[in-house]
Amino acid sequence: MSGIGKGIAVSSIGLILKSRGFKVTAIKIDPYINVDAGTMNPVEHGEVFVTEDGLECDQDIGNYERFLDENIYAGNYMTTGKVYRAVIERERNLEYRGRCVEVVPDIPNEVINNIELAGKNTNSDIVLIEIGGTVGEYQNMLFLEAARMMKLAHPKDALFILVSYLPVPSKIGEMKTKPTQYAVRSLNSAGIQPNIILARSDYPVDEVRKRKISVFCNVDPEDVISAPDVDSIYEVPINFEKDNLGSRIMEKLGLRSEVSDLVQWKELVQKITSTAEPVKIGIVGKYFETGKFTLLDSYISVIEAVKHAAYFHSKKPEIIWLSAGKYEEDESALEELKIFQGVIVPGGFGSRGIEGKIKAIKYCRENKIPFLGLCLGMQLATIEFARNVAGIENASSAEFSNENCKNVIDVMGEQKKLIKEKHFGGTMRLGSYNCRLTPGTRSFSAYGEEMIAERHRHRYELSNKYRKKLEKEGLVVAGVNPEKDLAEIIELKDHPFFVASQFHPEFKSRPLRPHPLFREFIASAITTKKPTLEAVGS
Ligand code: GLN
Repeated sequence: MSGIGKGIAVSSIGLILKSRGFKVTAIKIDPYINVDAGTMNPVEHGEVFVTEDGLECDQDIGNYERFLDENIYAGNYMTTGKVYRAVIERERNLEYRGRCVEVVPDIPNEVINNIELAGKNTNSDIVLIEIGGTVGEYQNMLFLEAARMMKLAHPKDALFILVSYLPVPSKIGEMKTKPTQYAVRSLNSAGIQPNIILARSDYPVDEVRKRKISVFCNVDPEDVISAPDVDSIYEVPINFEKDNLGSRIMEKLGLRSEVSDLVQWKELVQKITSTAEPVKIGIVGKYFETGKFTLLDSYISVIEAVKHAAYFHSKKPEIIWLSAGKYEEDESALEELKIFQGVIVPGGFGSRGIEGKIKAIKYCRENKIPFLGLCLGMQLATIEFARNVAGIENASSAEFSNENCKNVIDVMGEQKKLIKEKHFGGTMRLGSYNCRLTPGTRSFSAYGEEMIAERHRHRYELSNKYRKKLEKEGLVVAGVNPEKDLAEIIELKDHPFFVASQFHPEFKSRPLRPHPLFREFIASAITTKKPTLEAVGS
């Protein structure tokens, strides 16, 4: 089922296999009708991740990239909507040569084609395919059918791993294997027998339960791999290897390799588990409140990027969620920002929370709190500067302004038509674009090179109509897209760290290679201020 860590499991298996010398890639299949994840509300779906080639996809692709330390491209992502659309387009183009096009086998065949193509295009030895959703539900049946057909065609080259949840009901205190038994029955009725079962639970699975799962689910006890909750997701591959997952996979696929010891990864985990001194970072957002629960999935790449940078500096990241709405209702609440060593305003859409975020940015600018703005965060930092430093009253963004406003953030010409015609899906400025950094700026020294490329996802831009005026008033444009002359990074002088980018640097941060902007932001947070023990709101 969703949320038990299939994405991390796939990523970890990928890392284990890669470390044994194989070229590995991973594919995510999401069962929903949406063609991509771009039109979905992040509170519902979690973060929308963006690939180099500009696909808006599921956050698991981000996990694959972080664990494999490789870019994953659009061909590695499929949804029911994308598959059906391709089959229907093919049918309209007479590519089925007049025959009746049917759900089975044409949809599973399209899935298989996509998988084979992704394997070929990435030149991979091993392709990991994550089928999203829950075993037994109606939505992912056709993907399971495709998987069954692949196994039939290549019995020695395909293997199935089931990620199953073993609850330990608190009043009973015993790990229950029944849901796993039923999951396997369901899979069996789809013609699939798992070869390996990853037993996700709060605790490690013991020998008694391993034997029980073995008997009822028809797998060797050695193929029941313990996958207990861990403090850091980066421990997962190491845990899997304790139960010899890599060797079990090798044996089943008839492959040979050196056993890898995941040295660098172990060093990272060692650092994560042994660092005690915190670095306290506040994130001002709005996509984390869902009923009485806090959902962190919407900002997962930002969180991971902060962690990578904090680990790099041997600090324990302490991330606190700050609701932008609160600052709109009560300005005195802004005082809580003073306990943070750094504040991030991440990406977002629509008017809710905008004024609260602008107030938080003003507070960081005036009180010299290290600040990092990401996409919307950059646009709002520009608006704040325009209003409160450059004296452009009513400065705003075309995304949420009225006719009395001055749009220092405006919509690009080509986007106007798309918005008018309601072409919203996959039409933002997406994927990787070049950016030339301005020598002498903080960004330039962070990256250590002049030409960089970063991933984008937005419709609005800093308006060139106001750029000169803003620069004259002290706004530093530290990076520009050379093709379209668009401001991509802004900075302020006379501030410990005030940097904001129109792109999303978080998408390119990797555990062993923190992103330069996050790395420098955290460095500044550490040197500017000592962590306080005060809690938020006190
Ligand atoms: N809503 C803004 C835009 O579309 C910012 C998008 C973002 O933060 N990803 O330009």
